[in-house]
Amino acid sequence: MRLLLKNGHLVDPIGKKDGLYDILIEDDKVVKVQTRISDRVDKLIDASDCLVMPGLIDMHTHVREPGYTEKETFVTAGRAAVKGGFTTICAAPDTKPVIDTSFLVGDIRRQAENESLANVLPVGALSTGLKGKQGADLEGMAREGAVAFSDETHSLVDMYLLRQLFLRCARLGLPVFSWNEDRRLSGKGVMNAGKFSKSMGLAGIPGSAEETVQARYMLLAEECGCQLHLQHMSTRKSVLMLWLAKKQFEAVTGEVCPHHLFLTEECLMEKGAAGKVYPPLRTEEDRLALIDGLRDGIIDVIATDHSPHEAGKWTLEEAPSGFSGLETALPLVYTGLVKQGLLSASQMVEKMSSNPARILKINRGSLNPGDIADITVFDPRPEYDISTEGFASLGKNTPFEGYHVSGRVTTTLVSGRVVYRNN
Ligand SMILES: [Zn+2]
Repeated sequence: MRLLLKNGHLVDPIGKKDGLYDILIEDDKVVKVQTRISDRVDKLIDASDCLVMPGLIDMHTHVREPGYTEKETFVTAGRAAVKGGFTTICAAPDTKPVIDTSFLVGDIRRQAENESLANVLPVGALSTGLKGKQGADLEGMAREGAVAFSDETHSLVDMYLLRQLFLRCARLGLPVFSWNEDRRLSGKGVMNAGKFSKSMGLAGIPGSAEETVQARYMLLAEECGCQLHLQHMSTRKSVLMLWLAKKQFEAVTGEVCPHHLFLTEECLMEKGAAGKVYPPLRTEEDRLALIDGLRDGIIDVIATDHSPHEAGKWTLEEAPSGFSGLETALPLVYTGLVKQGLLSASQMVEKMSSNPARILKINRGSLNPGDIADITVFDPRPEYDISTEGFASLGKNTPFEGYHVSGRVTTTLVSGRVVYRNN
C-alpha cells in the first residue's frame, strides 16, 4: 500500500523541516519526504493549507480500563485520541485493579493492541496498589512493556522507599512520572488556596502541596540517577525549581496541561464543580509563568491528563477531579499559543510529539524516511465553539465547553493506516 500526503506544511523539528513537503508512505513507514513527489500511489490525501506533524504523543491519559468502563474504554479512548490528533497515549495505572504486576501490564497491552485505534503504552504503578507502602514488581512490568512508572494520585511519603524505587528505575533506564501532592497540605481543599477560595468559603490547596513534593523528588532522583518527569506542573515556583534542577541534572523534565495554560482559579466562580482538578487551576501569575516556562524550554511537554468522568450533578466537595482532554488539547494549544505568537508551530510539535518520544525513548516523534508513519494533519482555519456533543470520549466533562477555538484535525494516520478522517 502506497499513500501520498500532498501539499501539506510539514512541521518536523527533528527532521528540521518547516515548509511545504509531500510525504510518501509505504505500508507503515515514511519512505520519501520531498518538496514534490509524483510517484504513482494507491491513495492520495490532499493536505493543502494544513499542518502535517509527527503524530502527537500524550504522556498522561487516564484510559480508565480496566475497572471504570462507564468512564472510558480502550475503544473510546483510542477514538478520542486519534480524533484529537494523538497517535500514541500513555495509559496511567490508577485503574481497578491498579496496573502493578507484569501480568496486568501484558494484559492491557494486548487488549489495547486489539481495541484501540491509537498506540497505547502502559505506565506501571510505582508501588503496589499505588499505596506508597511497598515497591511493585518494576522489573517484571518493564519486561512486559511498561514504559514508565507512576505514583498517580499518591505521592510517596516514605523517602527511603522512594530512594529504593528510584535506584531500581535507574537500573531499568525507565522514567518515573510524579504526581506531586502532599496530601496533608492539600487537606480537604477543592480549589487553589487564595482570595477566591476565601471569598467562596471553600477549603484551598496551596502551591506548597505540589512544590514541596516536587523538590524532594527532584533531589532524590538526581542522587539516584533516576529519570524523573514532573506531571501537570501548575505553579510559578514549580517552574523556577525545574529550571534550577535542570542546571544540575539533565534527566528531569516537566509537563503542563492545557487547562493550567488557559484557565485560572476564577473559572470556578463561573463553572463550579466543572472546574475541579488536581492540581487546581491557579492564579494568573502562575498561568503566565507556565507559558513562559514552555517558551523558554524549561517545560518540555504539553500533556492532557485526560480524565473522563460520567455526567452528574455534584457540589465542589463531591465532584470527581479532572477533565476530558484528548479532543480539545490541540485546538486549544494552537489557538491560545501558536496563533497568539507565544509558541511557534515547531515548538508546539516539540512539546506534543518529539519531546515525549525522546523522554519515553520510543521511535516516534519525527517523520524522516524510515520512520513509522504516525501522522497528524491539522487544518488551522475552521473556527468553532468547543462542544462536547461530538466527543468520541465517553467523558464529556470539560471546562472548555463553548470556548472559541481555531483548527481541527482532518486526518490521523497510525502506522501508515488512516484511522481518522474529517472532511
Ligand atoms: Zn493524571
